[in-house]
Amino acid sequence: MQILIVEDEARILAFVARALRAEGWTVGVADNGSKGLAAAIANPYDLVVLDLLLPGMDGLDLLRELRERKPLLPVLILSARSDLDTKLRGFNLGADDYLVKPFSLGELLCRVRVQLRRRQPPAESSVLYAGPLLLDLTRREARLGPRVCELTDGEFRLLHFLLEHAGEVNSREQLLSQVWGYDFDPRSNVVDVSIRRLRQKLGPEAPIETVRNVGYRLAAG
Ligand code: CA
Repeated sequence: MQILIVEDEARILAFVARALRAEGWTVGVADNGSKGLAAAIANPYDLVVLDLLLPGMDGLDLLRELRERKPLLPVLILSARSDLDTKLRGFNLGADDYLVKPFSLGELLCRVRVQLRRRQPPAESSVLYAGPLLLDLTRREARLGPRVCELTDGEFRLLHFLLEHAGEVNSREQLLSQVWGYDFDPRSNVVDVSIRRLRQKLGPEAPIETVRNVGYRLAAG
């Protein structure tokens, strides 16, 4: 599990980083808001511990931008700001937890563990992810951020196949035979129609790319 700490006070940054590393987690650090946002977007972190009063970019602004790029990445705010208004703004912007400074290290570690536990995919890996997209194989539903998309059986199997082959280009012929079990039929447009429906249901942030003259690819995380 990888954790990013965004914190401008060197003493707190070093203290928290040391404590989290001692628990066996991999820790990245950023000492201002804009560096923190860039690091959170560029790396596969499982949690961000976020200060609010930061140089470069305020923590709440960072959170707002991060949510557009990574709606599912857990964020624990760790701030000296204890007023209810700031807490509510943090939660409304998508924070998963909020701890006020000064804090107890034991409590921080407990709250970090809770967030990381939620991050573990359920047993048997019944959930597949790619970027903001999540496919729940048990519930047979897709989610993009907070939005749940109901899929038909064909759409579900198509998306499942694309997710299992995320990053790879899949030809129409391949999809037709792997997802629908059909031999290639040049007149069939079932693949294109299903991709179009999937895109409509998932919305503009759906990471399904058209590869000209070949087929489709689901952008990997
Ligand atoms: Ca600060």
